[in-house]
Amino acid sequence: MTTATAKPAKIPLPSTQDILVKNPPYERMPIAEQDQARILDLVSGVFTVDCFCPKCKQNSTFSSYEKGSKNTTHRGENSQLQMLTSLIGGGNWANDCDFTITMYCSRVSDHKLVVYVAIRDKCLIKVGQYAS
Ligand SMILES: [Zn+2]
Repeated sequence: MTTATAKPAKIPLPSTQDILVKNPPYERMPIAEQDQARILDLVSGVFTVDCFCPKCKQNSTFSSYEKGSKNTTHRGENSQLQMLTSLIGGGNWANDCDFTITMYCSRVSDHKLVVYVAIRDKCLIKVGQYAS
């Protein structure tokens, strides 16, 4: 047992799959400085996750890009990305902020999952999600 030390072990940021799909809402996930790139990937949409699609009524792959879209520039959340980038650039990494992540079903791009994420006290918190 090595848990008796005064300093708690760093809890690694969960995988993107866990953050967006598996973990329950309102769980506080501590963000370390080395997690910056992960947070940027999340916000800028560099990920795919496997998730149950309520419209397909079966598991599907979701990504932040619409199926068939040739434009690889992220759509929609650029202002959020700029906001986060400026936070990091200003040395105020992980200030409190809110952002949304839109994921598209790989089968039908009209199937969307929207995940609301907040950063509070240097913790990432999933505050809600809905299918549309
Ligand atoms: Zn679907």
